[in-house]
Amino acid sequence: MRRKLAAGNWKMNGTGANLSELADLASPENIDVLICPPAPLVSRAAQANAKIAIGGQDCHTAQNGAHTGDVSAAMLADAGATYVLTGHSERRTDHGERNAIVAAKTAAAWDQNLIAVICIGETLAQREVGETLAVIADQLTHSTPNAATGGNTVIAYEPVWAIGTGLIPTLEQIEEVHDFIRAELANRFGTETAESMRLLYGGSVKPSNAEYIFATSNVDGALVGGASLKASDFNGIISALSLA
Ligand code: PEP
Repeated sequence: MRRKLAAGNWKMNGTGANLSELADLASPENIDVLICPPAPLVSRAAQANAKIAIGGQDCHTAQNGAHTGDVSAAMLADAGATYVLTGHSERRTDHGERNAIVAAKTAAAWDQNLIAVICIGETLAQREVGETLAVIADQLTHSTPNAATGGNTVIAYEPVWAIGTGLIPTLEQIEEVHDFIRAELANRFGTETAESMRLLYGGSVKPSNAEYIFATSNVDGALVGGASLKASDFNGIISALSLA
């Protein structure tokens, strides 16, 4: 049985003053709740609410060394994180991260016993020319190392055109991609591993559309940006997931 996951990505938002939001987050018994704050807040966030998990938004492929400004999985784990996002589309776009780097970061996360949330998704241009499933297959294959299991990996399908835009795919479009990801995972890792791996949808999830999205097959939760910043908003999503 896959445990559902409501994951929040604060991106480059929030200072110490925002950590009070964490204390107000709901934590229903039947789902996992995760917040990925900016790196300088990870340690304090991990102390703020014992019932929610804390993750990084990125990690380096190395655990230490001459990489000014970067954060390693070892540092995140030491600060109290148990998850880390890898391959978020903003990392792929802003920092030119290719699949091979995402895979190396994912392996680095596993080395520190962090659960990697590997993010994949097509651009609008790719969807419009019918390349969505090919892009998803390519990113999934090459961003996910061979040792992936349901315990160490979560896959987040985030259409780039839906992130921060207020646009969301139709339920049929979400279902098509999630069913495809599950089938691809089964082909590569076997049915048992594929069935144990959580698949999140991400892109403009709000309290108002969460129930609709969570009714889709093979959606085991959400990766949420803007609507995770305020406990009052994120609690609506947490509640919808808990009831789905
Ligand atoms: C994200 O940051 O991964 C995201 C999905 O953002 P938003 O919910 O704001 O679209």
